[in-house]
Amino acid sequence: MSGLAGRSGQRAGLVGQPLRRRHSQVMHDAAFAAAGINAAYELHEVAPDDLSAFVAGVRTDAAWLGFQITSPHKQAVVALLDEVEPDALAIGAVNSVERTGDGRLLGFNTDAPGFTAAVAVDPGVDVTGRHVVLIGAGGAARAVAVACLAAGATSLTVANRTGATAVALAGSLWDPDRARGLGLADPALPALLGRADLVVNATTVGMTSGGTPVDVAALGPATVVLDLVYQPSVTPLLAAVRARGLRGANGAGMLVAQAVIAWVRWTGAADPTDVMRAALDGMVAEPEPEPEHGPA
Ligand code: NAP
Repeated sequence: MSGLAGRSGQRAGLVGQPLRRRHSQVMHDAAFAAAGINAAYELHEVAPDDLSAFVAGVRTDAAWLGFQITSPHKQAVVALLDEVEPDALAIGAVNSVERTGDGRLLGFNTDAPGFTAAVAVDPGVDVTGRHVVLIGAGGAARAVAVACLAAGATSLTVANRTGATAVALAGSLWDPDRARGLGLADPALPALLGRADLVVNATTVGMTSGGTPVDVAALGPATVVLDLVYQPSVTPLLAAVRARGLRGANGAGMLVAQAVIAWVRWTGAADPTDVMRAALDGMVAEPEPEPEHGPA
C-alpha cells in the first residue's frame, strides 16, 4: 500500500495535441485504484502556445504528482523544466515529468528504459552483443537507439523511409562507430536484416497503414522481431514473422513498462505491472478507430 493512500485529489496526466487514445489514462487510473491512491490521470489537449502556462500551473499546484508529454511537446517542454536527466537529453525528448514536494519539475524519458525492460521479457532478447536493425528514425526510434547502444549492442542499423533522417540519427549517437543509418530501399538492407539478431519496428506502419515496413523474407532464420505498435495486437509484420516460424512481440510490453516507470516514480508505491497490463489488454482487445500518438 502506498504512503499516498488516503490523500485526496492527487493529479497526474498527459499533455499533447491531439490526444486520441486513452490507453495511458486507463492504465494509470487502474494502478491508482488498485493501490488505493486517490489520484486521477487527466488528459490535457494543449496547444504549443499554451504549454508554458500549463507547466506553470503544475508547478504551483501541489496536487500534481507529475505528468507525461506527447507530440508535439516532447522537445519544447525541456526549456520549461528545472532539471532534465542525462538520458532524456541524449534522446532529445522528455516524455515524463516528476513534480517534487517543493514544486521543482524534473524531466525524464521512460521510453528507453521501457524498451530495455520489455525486450528482455517479450520477445526475450538480451541486446548485449547483438546485431540490431531498427526500422524508423522518429522519437520512439531515437529512444530505442540510445537504449540499444547503452545495453551493449554490437551493431545498430537504423533504416528509415527517409534515409537522411536515419543517417542523422545514427551519427548523432554518442557511439557512432557502432551505428549506421540508411534508407529502406538501400541495397545493403536485406543482408543486414539477414544477419540481425533483433529487428525493431519503430515506424507507424501496421498502425496507421497496412503492410510491413520491411520484407520479412529477408530476415534471418534466428531473427527476433519487436514491433512497437501495440494496436492491432497482431500487426501485419508480426503475422508475417510468425507465419515464417520466427519469434515476435508487439509493443504492449513496452507501453506498460514505460508507464510503470513514471507511475512508481510519482507514487513510490509497489510495481503495478500486472494491473496496468490487465487494463491495457482489456483495451487493445477492442477495435480502435483512430491512430494514436500516445505518451509513449
Ligand atoms: P514519429 O516520431 O512520428 O516517427 C514515425 C516514423 O515512422 C518515422 O521514422 C517515419 O519515417 C516512419 N513512417 C511513417 N509512415 C511510414 C511509411 N508509410 N513507411 C515507412 N515508414 C514510415 O513516431 P514515433 O513517436 O517515433 O512512434 C513510432 C511508432 O512507435 C508508432 O506506431 C507508436 O505508436 C509506436 N510507439 C510505441 C511505444 C510503445 O511503448 N509501445 C512507444 C513509442 C512509440 P519518415 O521519417 O520517413 O517519415
